[in-house]
Amino acid sequence: MNIKTLFAAYVRQQKQLQLPDVVFGDVSVCRVFSVKKPGAVPVKARPSVRQESAEAPAIKTVKKTVAPAAATENGQSVTDSRNKLASLRKIDRSEIAPRVRRSAAAQPAAAAGAALSFEQKRDALKKLFFSGCSLCHLAQSRKKMVFGSGNVDAPVVIVGEAPGEEEDRQGIPFVGPAGQLLTQMLAAVKLDRAKDTFITNVLKCHPPANRNPESAEIVTCFPLLKKQIEIIHPKAILLLGRIAAHAVLGNAGSISSMRSKVFTYNTIPCMVIYHPAALLHNVAYKRPAWEDLKKFKELLDSLGVYGSLQQQQK
Ligand code: SF4
Repeated sequence: MNIKTLFAAYVRQQKQLQLPDVVFGDVSVCRVFSVKKPGAVPVKARPSVRQESAEAPAIKTVKKTVAPAAATENGQSVTDSRNKLASLRKIDRSEIAPRVRRSAAAQPAAAAGAALSFEQKRDALKKLFFSGCSLCHLAQSRKKMVFGSGNVDAPVVIVGEAPGEEEDRQGIPFVGPAGQLLTQMLAAVKLDRAKDTFITNVLKCHPPANRNPESAEIVTCFPLLKKQIEIIHPKAILLLGRIAAHAVLGNAGSISSMRSKVFTYNTIPCMVIYHPAALLHNVAYKRPAWEDLKKFKELLDSLGVYGSLQQQQK
């Protein structure tokens, strides 16, 4: 008989005998074991176990039956168990997520995706998509979750900041004016957006009024991006803008201090460029963005990305 059944039998018997729950006094244990609480007796008015056992032999029997269950499996006392129950509290997910992220960062380079076939990567990403997510409050305001689009076996993963209004409506990343500019920029370095890249964002849901993502949202959503990168295991990652760079690289530098440099994320080379939306708002960024894109092309050359693309096309 398991502990839950044992408690249920005990409480039922106490009820039938019209006796209070002398062992566990308050409702906490009944709640934990989903047992209907017997007739409520104020805690202070309840007799002690010793008094109770002196009153009726039937209670002695009950006491004998219950005594082993009163100790937990690892031999802790009832008081210890009560203290543990009392210490339970609702944990804020934002407290957990940084730990998840830290432990993830401590793991060795994600090599799992490298060994997966195209079909396995597609199935793993599908499963991830269909498992959905409502871990943060953006799930309530979004129209569609914007998971990502492109080739699941792409050599390049591109990471933006968060979906905009149009992306939220369509469920596809980078479909507005900034997305069209991105497509042209990729074409300029001989990358076909649909075939050679997988595009996603740090946040998968649209922040209302196009505001910047909040730190707690980024921390909560990051494991999803991490998993996507693990599955796809690209040869290189292109980070669009400051927020993507901060989330993936874990540093807080300005774009001007990060651009033109090669970083690594779990041994995968990464480069940071201005977000296409920034280029639309400030033409002064266009030249440095083009310089950075050429450097990214050189990186892809050195990684043999173009060679593998040509092989795929044959
Ligand atoms: S933003 Fe990320 S964490 Fe928040 S609900 Fe969407 S997918 Fe989940």
